[in-house]
Amino acid sequence: MKRKLRMGMVGGGLTSFIGPVHRKAAGIDGEIELVCGAFSIIPGESKETGEALYLNPDRVYETYQEMFEKEKSLPPDQRIDFVSVVTPNHVHFGPSQMALESGFHVLVEKPIAFSLAEAKTLEKTVNKTGLLLGLTHTYTGYPLVKEARKMVADGAFGKIRKIYVEYPQGWLSTLLEKTGNMQASWRTDPKQSGMGGAIGDIGTHAANLAEYITGLRITEICAMLNTVVKGRHLDDDSSMLLRFDNGASGVLMATQVAAGEENNLNIRVYGEKGGLEWKQEEPNTMILKWLDKPKEIIRAGQKYLSDEAKSFTRTPAGHPEGYLEAFANIYRSFSRALRDYKPGKKLNIAKYDFPDVADGVRGMNFVQTVVKSANSNRKWTTLK
Ligand code: NAD
Repeated sequence: MKRKLRMGMVGGGLTSFIGPVHRKAAGIDGEIELVCGAFSIIPGESKETGEALYLNPDRVYETYQEMFEKEKSLPPDQRIDFVSVVTPNHVHFGPSQMALESGFHVLVEKPIAFSLAEAKTLEKTVNKTGLLLGLTHTYTGYPLVKEARKMVADGAFGKIRKIYVEYPQGWLSTLLEKTGNMQASWRTDPKQSGMGGAIGDIGTHAANLAEYITGLRITEICAMLNTVVKGRHLDDDSSMLLRFDNGASGVLMATQVAAGEENNLNIRVYGEKGGLEWKQEEPNTMILKWLDKPKEIIRAGQKYLSDEAKSFTRTPAGHPEGYLEAFANIYRSFSRALRDYKPGKKLNIAKYDFPDVADGVRGMNFVQTVVKSANSNRKWTTLK
């Protein structure tokens, strides 16, 4: 396919958080062009967003239903190839399902859906249609996360024994949802966020990162969920013990009431011979720790990294890349798969290295298992 891919967007109005990030990230490599959108639930904001982005007004829609109806009736050389879904959690399933049924590929924000049942329905639809569904677990897009994954897979640390993953934020330390903050208000509303608050919003990233780097699967969880801020209706704090399928154990913490923390996702993984430490707020540095030699510091963009890690940077070492580029890496991997897509032919998604519908189902399963464990007196709950 020797042209730019045509993208539509659902959500991502001018006043939103992640939609504008997606638009920038999608544009970084010049392979994707935003051609249409149903950008907002706020009356008039979809139009305003379309104007600000200089889109053809005929392709700026008030609702996603109208968007897919109109787009599928356009000639094949005009209609979108895929849609980016960047709405709150309760509006992931509707547009993703309708897009797939209309013949469009989907890149959707995490968590994939509002509930596990919705996630499983999406998985069935992906299998039935053969179309692609990518999921933006952003942190898997960083070059040093790729390096970490490769080092673990190559056995650099020996058998993995212990994983600590923490995701502390502090922005929900007060009842921000009562002040008109849009991002806080839907995230703390069980009707829009789902059964998990912090655990769905950021705990899913932490669990996904731990599984992505180690290649292991969480099999059992012993969890505690708290609602720390009075008047809130969902968890804003969580701690849990994990068991992994190779016998390793882990600790996961995800909280939005760690006052003063910004977006401090960090992970430590230890094997028989050594370990690694990576922090999202300093993503271009990773510390390697060894049983029998001094610590090492490795840096993104350096020649000594694996080809995999190097292929996910765009600038030389010391010219920092970050969040936008991590998103761009997911867009690029997804686009590569999409360019190779042929109707009726199953692609080997693993080859392209982007989170997909299976990760989405797993994320919802994780949230459900954590909530079940936290609400029960049993010590351990199985993650199926
Ligand atoms: P937000 O509240 O800032 O923006 C949501 C946007 O969706 C708004 O423009 C809103 O008007 C629009 N919208 C709502 N309902 C709609 C509908 N029916 N049709 C069209 N537009 C609609 O939310 P956000 O913080 O940008 O989060 C959006 C999603 O992105 C969430 O699922 C969140 O979990 C996820 N997210 C992921 C990351 C990441 O790192 N991957 C970071 C932030 C948010």
